Amino acid sequence: MARYTGASCRICRREGTKLFLKGLRCGTDKCAFARRSYPSGQHGKGRRRKISDYGLQLREKQKVKRIYGVLERQFRRYFYEADRLEGVTGELLLQLLERRLDNVILRAGFAVSLCQARQIVRYGHVTINDKKVDIPSYLVVSGEKVKIKAKEKLTKQIKENLEITKERIIPSWLNVDSAELKAEIVKLPTREEIPFAVQEQLIVELYSK
Ligand code: SF4
Repeated sequence: MARYTGASCRICRREGTKLFLKGLRCGTDKCAFARRSYPSGQHGKGRRRKISDYGLQLREKQKVKRIYGVLERQFRRYFYEADRLEGVTGELLLQLLERRLDNVILRAGFAVSLCQARQIVRYGHVTINDKKVDIPSYLVVSGEKVKIKAKEKLTKQIKENLEITKERIIPSWLNVDSAELKAEIVKLPTREEIPFAVQEQLIVELYSK
């Protein structure tokens, strides 16, 4: 599957907010956004244009795509799926993205970044209800049990990750057992449990034109 392979910090600077794409580095004073909170490039610092409604909608969409590491076509599919379901489309869109298996691995604290979470899944170290699942975009449902089944070296790494991420708030829709490296999906996430300051309504307006 295609994915963005450019510089992560550049994205945060472009979106004007910390998106925590680089794991450990994001919490340190090496964070590029903390040092230069304006877009990169020759005109990044001086640019202060008034942004149109369309521009605002576009930026919000880009921000969410980047938080979850999905590209345009896939993101659009999530939108159409959310639109098809009964409920508030914007919230359902975020819920679908939040249910991705790579995101679950990250939220549970088994990985320090989405990139690392995706690698853990892709390399076949994750089972769901005892069956191997190596698709990062797999959408979990309530009642499923996610478990890391890795060799000693990776298990050690994941335990170290859990130590690093222990201060993070684990969302209430996940029940994590750090000792056993497993997590149960207690229920589907609600909007209040999705920890991003995102105006999802702007994305709905953008795609509804
Ligand atoms: Fe964004 Fe800072 Fe993390 Fe880079 S280090 S990805 S700028 S939050």
